[in-house]
Amino acid sequence: MHKNSLPLLLLAIFLTYNTYDLVAQKKPKNGTKVENSDYLRVSPKLVVGIVVDQMRYDYLTRFWTHFEDDGFKRLVNDGFNCKNNHFNYAPTSTGPGHTSVYTGTTPATHGIIGNNWYDKETDQEVYCASDDTYNSVGTTTDAGKMSPHRMIVTTVTDQLRLHTQMRGKTIAIALKDRGAVLPGGHTANAAYWFYGMGEGNWITSSFYMENLPKWVNDFNASNTAENYKKPWTTLKDINTYLESGLDNNKYEGLFTGQTAPTFPHDLPSLWNSNGKFDIIKATPYGNSITADFAIAALDGEDLGSDPITDFLAVSFSSTDYVGHKYGVNSKEIQDTYVRLDRDLARLFKALDKKVGENEYTLFLTADHAAINVPAYLKDQKIPAGYMETGNLMKKLKEFLKYKYGTTDLIKNISNYQLFLDHDVINNLDMELGDVQEEIAKELLNYKGIDRVYTAKQMWQNEYKEGIPSILQNGYNQKRSGDILMVLKPGTISYPVTGSTHGSPQIYDTHVPLLFYGKGIRKGSTTVRTEIPDIAPTISALLGIAFPNGTTGNPISKVLQ
Ligand SMILES: [Zn+2]
Repeated sequence: MHKNSLPLLLLAIFLTYNTYDLVAQKKPKNGTKVENSDYLRVSPKLVVGIVVDQMRYDYLTRFWTHFEDDGFKRLVNDGFNCKNNHFNYAPTSTGPGHTSVYTGTTPATHGIIGNNWYDKETDQEVYCASDDTYNSVGTTTDAGKMSPHRMIVTTVTDQLRLHTQMRGKTIAIALKDRGAVLPGGHTANAAYWFYGMGEGNWITSSFYMENLPKWVNDFNASNTAENYKKPWTTLKDINTYLESGLDNNKYEGLFTGQTAPTFPHDLPSLWNSNGKFDIIKATPYGNSITADFAIAALDGEDLGSDPITDFLAVSFSSTDYVGHKYGVNSKEIQDTYVRLDRDLARLFKALDKKVGENEYTLFLTADHAAINVPAYLKDQKIPAGYMETGNLMKKLKEFLKYKYGTTDLIKNISNYQLFLDHDVINNLDMELGDVQEEIAKELLNYKGIDRVYTAKQMWQNEYKEGIPSILQNGYNQKRSGDILMVLKPGTISYPVTGSTHGSPQIYDTHVPLLFYGKGIRKGSTTVRTEIPDIAPTISALLGIAFPNGTTGNPISKVLQ
């Protein structure tokens, strides 16, 4: 036998079996002809991806009794609930979050390492979605100069476009530009976001188009945004909101010009001192106008009207603004979710009507969760606190001066990462790894810091579990910093009012993941699932190629 014949023989056997398999699949069942593709994939007319900005998993359970049957409960009762779903990387913030949901991987692979970060190549701070090579469309400001160019892999939305020869449409919508631009991927037909201030319009970038379509101009001209310039009162009697803290407490922030963080929040009188239309973003009305616009997009973009699958990516951003201002235990957060439940129900009803009740597949998740206000936790005797970065820098500079004779070693601190000046280290003839380790050891002495890892450790080890693995999934060799800091559980670097996020701790990683609709089983699981599993699950359902950086796995229990 020729030495090269064996592989050929194996290939022949493989091909033979494969052919046999396909023939077997084509055999009609019970005399009826079954399309071969039915064995391989489900083809909803529309996939709807919903990301709720800063939604913790326990909002589902905490506010459950206040939800109606046709909002969140419809997804939980008739869909699949992954109760133990987590971000598996840090930093847990909006840009990386949306990117990871749609790319099926983490910042180590997709490159979106923060909302903003220090770019080592250009020696400047960059924003995850900004792109000066494009123009704003729909505003004279720079708010439209965006593109997904910093995301270096494809999204599930890209793969659907490629699979359908660009016939399936992708439309992405969010108040925040990054909440629309990143989910839309590189091939979106359109991404739209909201510009507040004195304008109050949905806008886009010349990356997608040169002019807004008529339906968007009509929507902008319709005064829908103007109509939300009204007092924010609670949807239900505030005395029935037993699942949140007192309305007036010291853990909440204020709008400019307010004296107490209490209902009603009078938008008309606060309007001019709080960025005019921008104030809508920090109220549930920001979610309502997002739902209004998404519903208008179903008709405007003619989504889900033929058998070629389209994709609508919607992100509700106001939940994050409200959480940052009032904290996760506030009456304001409770009312925001009670109202979001109503906005979701409106969106689902519109989908039923426009696309058809069992003709779409939907998932709902978040881009990160959030911590309870540490000042409140402290008052309940739970270990928590605040770290002052100003103090940290002062102490660190004293150390560097003493140890190396210069404070020029540090280029930047962002997203709990320290970037060193490699040129200065080279010029001083020092080993980068040694400097990283010395500074890491120093930082570990500081109050509020719990763990420290160096880039050298990230390069040399493969962490399988726990905090180091979460950091490693967020560590991008080309873009991330030299030293990675983790604060003590319960400690944040933030003002003493409101909640924030960004850490690898479980309060920032645990978020809802609900699937619903065509091809989805009813059920739930407490087995751990992770954010990068979403894109391959949807890809497997659709029978399309996975996004090209995928590291997650399809959640097989979810699929019929
Ligand atoms: Zn946030």
